[in-house]
Amino acid sequence: MGISNRAGCFLEGVYKLERIAVLGAGIMGAGIAQAAALAGYQVILRDLQMHLIKDGLNTIDQTLGKLLDRGLITQEDRFKALNNLKGTTDLSDLKDVDLVIEAVVENMSVKKQIFAELDSLCGENAILASNTSSLSISEIAATTGRTDRVLGMHFFNPVHHYKLVEIIKGLETSEESVQKAREFCRRIGKHSVLVKRESPGYVVNRILLSFINEAIFVYADGGAEKEDIDTAIKLGLGMEMGPLEQADKIGLDHIYRTIIGFNDEFRDSKYRPHPLLGTMIRAGHLGVSSGKGFYTYDCPSPNQGK
Ligand code: NAD
Repeated sequence: MGISNRAGCFLEGVYKLERIAVLGAGIMGAGIAQAAALAGYQVILRDLQMHLIKDGLNTIDQTLGKLLDRGLITQEDRFKALNNLKGTTDLSDLKDVDLVIEAVVENMSVKKQIFAELDSLCGENAILASNTSSLSISEIAATTGRTDRVLGMHFFNPVHHYKLVEIIKGLETSEESVQKAREFCRRIGKHSVLVKRESPGYVVNRILLSFINEAIFVYADGGAEKEDIDTAIKLGLGMEMGPLEQADKIGLDHIYRTIIGFNDEFRDSKYRPHPLLGTMIRAGHLGVSSGKGFYTYDCPSPNQGK
């Protein structure tokens, strides 16, 4: 028999999170809100200004349209998902939710302020999750009085495409919170993996960035031409993209900063960017975003159209 509870409810002995809020209607927030709404959750999407929420909702509508065209959802699914979404700029609208997933800018002081506010606003059972890619969950949690109910839920971009969510435990995150978050992921059709102890890059990015850095070493040391390195990895390992192509796509400046961050945390010399990376960045070769990295790209000039 079900017992209701202010934050979530127990149904057939299983605790369910029912009311969801997503903070930030940008790339990730819109994607996460869409996945939850499509799975039947009532979702509150919060951003700072109404036009940002409208942009997020438009993005969701367009993505749902594409999924419909590809036969992955029905018109009814799309209609229901849109109906399950409510936008707000008012943080107090989140007071009754069971799970908040924060996807605002990657800035520790902004996130700390938000988590402190959420802690005083939300019900005591509510779980507060962050979609941060790189910031410490334990540090964010420390601004709250519920360190056992704060965790990382790291979705991948675009959210509708990637099935993976990394669930990251902070130092004091409880098993119960982890189980609830994993159950939520399952219900929205995602596969969660547990990062048992927070550390930079979690699982995917720690391995990916080390792999890309090694490919840069092979290239910079004259081991092989860039095209051959990428072809070797695609044909030899069955990966969709070669590591140098991927480096350009991610952005060489981001890769450099991330590897330095690994080094700062682990104090292990295996995390060191090849000097070529620093030289390329100083020359403005940042990858796709600047039109030039390991490869060259058609990139509109900043003055074009003015
Ligand atoms: P984004 O810039 O597209 O969106 C951030 C949104 O948060 C903006 O709309 C902004 O107005 C809003 N915002 C800022 N402060 C707010 C507040 N106090 N309350 C509510 N909304 C607020 O950023 P994004 O790419 O969606 O990234 C969001 C988070 O997800 C970051 O922590 C990022 O590291 C992480 N992440 C990003 C990716 C990615 O590929 N973009 C992948 C995984 C994780």
